[in-house]
Amino acid sequence: RKLQAALDLHRPRPEVPARAPLPRFTPVAIAQGLERGEFEPYFLPRVDIATGCIRGAEALARWNHPTQGRVQPEAFIPVVETRGFMESLTNLMVCTATAHCRTWRDLDLDLSVSINISSTLLGDGRLADRLTELVAAAGIEPRHVTFEITETAATRNLGRTLENLTRLRMYGFGLAIDDYGTGYSSMQRLVNMPFTELKIDKTFVTNAAREPSSRAMVESSLELARKLGLTTIAEGVEDREAWELLRSMGCPQAQGYFIAAPMPAAEFLTWAHEQKQL
Ligand code: C2E
Ligand code: CA
Ligand code: CA
Ligand code: CA
Repeated sequence: RKLQAALDLHRPRPEVPARAPLPRFTPVAIAQGLERGEFEPYFLPRVDIATGCIRGAEALARWNHPTQGRVQPEAFIPVVETRGFMESLTNLMVCTATAHCRTWRDLDLDLSVSINISSTLLGDGRLADRLTELVAAAGIEPRHVTFEITETAATRNLGRTLENLTRLRMYGFGLAIDDYGTGYSSMQRLVNMPFTELKIDKTFVTNAAREPSSRAMVESSLELARKLGLTTIAEGVEDREAWELLRSMGCPQAQGYFIAAPMPAAEFLTWAHEQKQL
């Protein structure tokens, strides 16, 4: 027992309490899920802060698993990414999300849709043309679609990435820098990329009302975006304090649980029609 006590004493202790482990999905399970049409986009509203009016939505992937229920991206994106399914998932997201956007627009809702593009795809020279074809097939104009790219992604494979982004921008798509502030790209690089939007990462936005360093990050991001002629979207607006602060700072648009959580397409359509008063 003494030995056991000594061993326990020297056992490294985790500094943070362990979280419940995520279920691990095999590549086969993911391939099946894709084949059976179990993945679908949920929609996160994006609103104008000055008016409170909805401007569009971001499509976020969800997996309706036959036994696990609704599965969040953090449980499947890593496997999708490393096991070669990102192109399939992205095609599916682009096709379905733009089809929904077409429905909104046919109903006279002037909304745009934003879709996440993984860094692993930006090295593919045919990406821009493939995305363009998929959007055209849905009967949606490129100016009503924005592709979101994380800052870290935008700095890898620089040549191909820049080529793909330039082509997409030329065709008329919007391009957003996602998770701004968490990556490593220099301002120099951002200046040279054809972005149209900057999305301030939720870690800064959520804490801005309480934490001076986060607030400073939000302020400097807004200033940078203004100087570069980009529109800004604050992600992760969770309460009225954050909303009011962003409004006072002149931030154009916001997303977050204070406005709404991601929801299925049918629910989003009702939400968009009712236009919650903020
Ligand atoms: P993201 O692109 O940064 O998406 C925003 C995430 O923040 C979403 O998580 C959204 O549900 C969550 N969120 C929205 N409002 C709030 C808020 O007020 N507070 C907090 N704490 N979170 C909020 P979700 O849906 O779990 O997606 C996680 C990530 O998975 C996304 O981060 C994105 O990087 C990735 N992802 C999701 N769908 C796709 C996809 O179709 N393709 C690719 N490549 N990545 C995707
Ligand atoms: Ca995003
Ligand atoms: Ca983000
Ligand atoms: Ca993120």
